[in-house]
Amino acid sequence: MNTPVATRVSSVSPAVLEALTIGSLPDTQWDHEDDLCDCTYQRIGLWKNPYLAETLEVRMCCIWAELYKQFPDFVRTIPGYYNDNTKEWETKPWEWNGEAEMPRAIWYRYLAREQDRPLADIRAEYSNQRPPSGRSRIPLFVYDRGEWALIELNGKASSIG
Ligand SMILES: [Zn+2]
Repeated sequence: MNTPVATRVSSVSPAVLEALTIGSLPDTQWDHEDDLCDCTYQRIGLWKNPYLAETLEVRMCCIWAELYKQFPDFVRTIPGYYNDNTKEWETKPWEWNGEAEMPRAIWYRYLAREQDRPLADIRAEYSNQRPPSGRSRIPLFVYDRGEWALIELNGKASSIG
């Protein structure tokens, strides 16, 4: 005897059925630069397994933000960036110097800080503009005083002296 289709389908959980029938499977996955929340550092937990046909995405940043409110004595936001190379605090945001275009989420937060304006205002004003473009780095080997060294040109030939 054939099993009715309805019986077979009933082994699928109601949540899966709903997702499939109303098309609620997400088109995009969350990622650490998706700008879908106002957190400064967007952090996403992701666990997935094809044998379970399930993906667990967690906006850790938003959950942590709620935890920070409960434990203010254990949280500090420092108005500076500690540069491990120079061993000094830097209190002015750097100009973009990455090789790729500046990630939009980082650019919005940079502008919000630079202009001391809410993130929502920055999003509204800059959503049609392009973030700063990347600067290609040209690797160059130089022979100097008996040793080879690798330097990178950041579009400035004068940097080789
Ligand atoms: Zn968040």
